Parts: sequence; C-alpha cells; structure tokens
Amino acid sequence: MGKLVKEEQSGGRLHIESPLMGESLVSKALLKGMEHQEVFRMHPDVNVLKIGGQSIMDRGAKALLPIIDVLLSAKEKFKMILMTGGGTRARHIYNIGLELGMPTGVLSKLGDKVSSQNAEILSVLLAKHGGVRIGHGDHLEQLTMFCQLGYLPITPGIPPYGFFEHPAEQGMIPPHRTDCGAFLLAENIGARSLIYLKDEKGLYSNDPKKSKDASVLDFYSRISVDELIALDLEDLIVERPVLRFLKHSKTLKEFQIIDALHHPEHILAALAGEHVGTIIYKDA
Ligand code: ADP
Ligand code: MG
Repeated sequence: MGKLVKEEQSGGRLHIESPLMGESLVSKALLKGMEHQEVFRMHPDVNVLKIGGQSIMDRGAKALLPIIDVLLSAKEKFKMILMTGGGTRARHIYNIGLELGMPTGVLSKLGDKVSSQNAEILSVLLAKHGGVRIGHGDHLEQLTMFCQLGYLPITPGIPPYGFFEHPAEQGMIPPHRTDCGAFLLAENIGARSLIYLKDEKGLYSNDPKKSKDASVLDFYSRISVDELIALDLEDLIVERPVLRFLKHSKTLKEFQIIDALHHPEHILAALAGEHVGTIIYKDA
C-alpha cells in the first residue's frame, strides 16, 4: 500500500492521501492487491477453547468437573480463554421461536442468552481459581494480561449478531452460533490455537450418533478445509460457516476438535500441540 499521510509543503497543513480514497472498497482488483499483508496478532499466546453446550455442559457435573480439573492444571502452563456453547436449551428456544415464525435475528437474540448462562455457570465454578467472566466489550484486548495475572477469562461463544444475523442458506436457524464465535475471536486476536471440546473423537463422514453402524463411517483425523468443503458432508461436527471462515482466515491456520467428554486429558495434549482429534487445516 502507498503512503497513507502526506504533509503538504504549503501552509504546513496536513492533507490525507490514502490509496483507498475514492474507492468503493468493492473492486476486485483493489481487494486482490491488498491480500498479502502480515496481520498483527494481539494475543499470540492465548488459546481459545470452546466448551460444547450440547456435547459437554448439558451433561452437568459428571462431564464438567473432570474437565475443570484439567483446565486448572492447564492454566499453570497455557494462556487460555474459555468460550461456552448453548446446547439443548438454545435448541428449545429456537424451536419455540420457529413455531411462532420468528425471524433469524430474533432467534439469534433468544439463543445467545443460553450461551451466557453457561458462561455464568463456568465462571461461578471457576471463581475461586481466578475464573473471570468477561463480555464482548472492552475486555478482549486485555486477555493476555488476565492470563498473566493468573485469571482464567470466560466469555459466551455466541457472536453478537442479534438482529444483524445473516439469513441462513437454508431454513431459519441462525447460522453463526458458538463454534463461529469461537473461530472469529481466535482469528481476530491472532490466537495461538483454537480447540473445540466436544463428545466425539472428531469428524466422521456422518453423525456417528445417528448412524446404525458407526464402524462403516470414515474418520478424518486430518483434512484440509478445501477438501472438506468439496466433500459436502450431510452433517458436520462443527458449524458449517466455520469452514468458510477458515478458508479465508488471515491468522488461524487450523483448529482441532477433540473428545473432551471421554478424554479430558486430551485438552492438555491438544494445548501442547499434540494431534488427538480431528485437525482441519487451511490450504497453503
Ligand atoms: P456442541 O455442543 O459442542 O456445539 P454439537 O452437538 O452442536 O456440539 O455438535 C457435535 C455433535 O455433532 C457430535 O456430538 C455428533 O453427534 C454430531 N455430528 C454431526 N455430524 C458429525 C460428523 N460428521 N462427525 C462427527 N460428529 C458429527
Ligand atoms: Mg453446536
């Protein structure tokens, strides 16, 4: 990009000369020319962990307490922010809203409360260990500081679209839910890693819970996002827009989905960079 600011000789006035001046910001050629910039990473040591709503939180103490033990030991070694899913209660309110013909943006507003409830539960459980619930407003710039001071920040996974939620490609369910929120935050803070804590080993060719014979399903331990998009699978373990996000991401190169329900110890392994679930990566 050219010089952003030019100081005019005469009169010492500041004139602003920007390569974006007079541009629609839509031109394909302009956007292409801006592609290869290094993106600043605000929190390069922070790991984003999304704790599934349906897959973990809904299962209550039995699922959650062993995971919390691991998170507390991980906190000694790794900087982390925890993000929470919605789960069954979000599905219930979506269903009520759908029956009433509510628009997608209203459904989004209804569902986000559940992700907040789960963030509240986690922050209460973790309070005496430095768990601190933060919102999406002013505290996200301070994540590294929180972690350095021994806090464990927690925030709802739902991205704050609300009335501004995009129309879904199909149907009315808000397409950008908590998997999306976790991805978007990780990408924009330049996080060290993004890990989804769920209840299956990773990605199969279809939902193992719905297949009569799960042994006939393919398991993908490592797959590129382009390949996965091309497979156009019937069902996915992660929200579909996340694939498009990764395809276009500037800082995140991959994420991992792990079975934290049956193997809480995999959280530590994944934080240490080990491959214990499914890694979906961005093509070079
Ligand atoms: P979370 O609560 O973490 O958001 P979800 O319940 O929304 O988790 O999504 C995870 C679930 O997706 C898994 O428990 C699994 O039953 C289901 N699933 C659907 N399609 C697949 C697939 N292709 N591979 C693996 N799991 C799948
Ligand atoms: Mg989900």
